[in-house]
Amino acid sequence: MSSDHAATTGRSGPVRWLFTDRVGGVSQGAFDSLNLADHVGDDPSAVAVNRSLVAAQLGVEPGHLAVMSASHGNEVCVVEGLTGPRPGSDVLITTEVGLGVAALAADCLLVLLYDADSGIVGAVHSGWMGVRDDAVGAAVEAMRELGARRLSAIVGPGICGECYPVPQERVDEVAATVPEAASTTRDGRASLDLRRGIAAHLARLEVVSRDVGICTAQSPLHYSYRRDGVTGRQCGAITVVAS
Ligand SMILES: [Zn+2]
Repeated sequence: MSSDHAATTGRSGPVRWLFTDRVGGVSQGAFDSLNLADHVGDDPSAVAVNRSLVAAQLGVEPGHLAVMSASHGNEVCVVEGLTGPRPGSDVLITTEVGLGVAALAADCLLVLLYDADSGIVGAVHSGWMGVRDDAVGAAVEAMRELGARRLSAIVGPGICGECYPVPQERVDEVAATVPEAASTTRDGRASLDLRRGIAAHLARLEVVSRDVGICTAQSPLHYSYRRDGVTGRQCGAITVVAS
């Protein structure tokens, strides 16, 4: 896998999406420089600046980017307007034009979902628990209930199976629901291939998907918790612009 900087923004009809990396923000030190998480020890004012930079890149007003605080589950939050607290959800969905939704991660997978016809978009954070519990499936189900008919998915940066050794018990636990996620590292240790697990979920849901093919642990342009410990978070963000 490589770190293809150019493969991380796109559009489909009125839908705009992007995956960020470390480049272009104002955070310092371990968070250098486009950290978007406010729970990792970074300067909150730097995080706020970085979030407004990403909002501008996505094409939404400053402050119109709803950023999740992930909880490693499959709870779905439909974002309506900008008031009120943002629940600890791993799936943010919106039907509102001009409102962006963003998921954060540093090795866990970021998945963006959209139906360009109905203008329904979603952002999903999925680590191994999200793969086990099918967070992506929960998002797809909720979006279809809201009227989505032709969903597409883009799987963003995240750790690959070769870089993600885990205890065999964890492999067994995830493989019980998603056998496709069981993998091995380069040196033969038990591992999880989260993107293969997510691809399997998406295929079963009959959602067309593509993958930007970036392993965060191998890409110096990305935050990787496994590699760096104290570090920032990149995002996947998506919106529908006014036509
Ligand atoms: Zn890797």
